[in-house]
Amino acid sequence: MEIRAHLTDAEMSEALTEPSRGSQAHLDDCESCRTELGMLRSAIRQVTHEAGDRPADFWVQQRRNIRAHVASEENTHARAGARWALVFGTCVLAFALFLLHSAPTPAAQPQATVSDHELLLEVESMVGSDVPQSLEPATVLATEISRGLPAGDSMKESKKGEQE
Ligand SMILES: [Zn+2]
Repeated sequence: MEIRAHLTDAEMSEALTEPSRGSQAHLDDCESCRTELGMLRSAIRQVTHEAGDRPADFWVQQRRNIRAHVASEENTHARAGARWALVFGTCVLAFALFLLHSAPTPAAQPQATVSDHELLLEVESMVGSDVPQSLEPATVLATEISRGLPAGDSMKESKKGEQE
């Protein structure tokens, strides 16, 4: 019986799944190639088995790692968001203060030419419209001034009255 050459790598890999008739015939006769094929099959089973084990263990751990990573990323983004909110709030506050300080400046020049009497009328109209509790003394003062009574004198008189 003619001894064929041993199975080539291509024939061996083919034999792993479905050996051709020639390969199968050689395998039947050649223990060396049968052993090699058996080792290859067990090696492939080993690799497949390890890969099959991974989802139970490896992939769960991977998922935990990814989740932990994502969670830390979210925390970082949340902190960054808080920082940006703070920066934004500070900018808004600074802009508001800038407006408060800069707005009266152009208006101050026309107001400087307004006479004291006009200013008094303006204050009176403002005070008379809606008087907060804290501005009530100013209302009294404005009323006294509008009557032509010097506020300082009336204060002195009231003090005199208290002393006497
Ligand atoms: Zn062989």
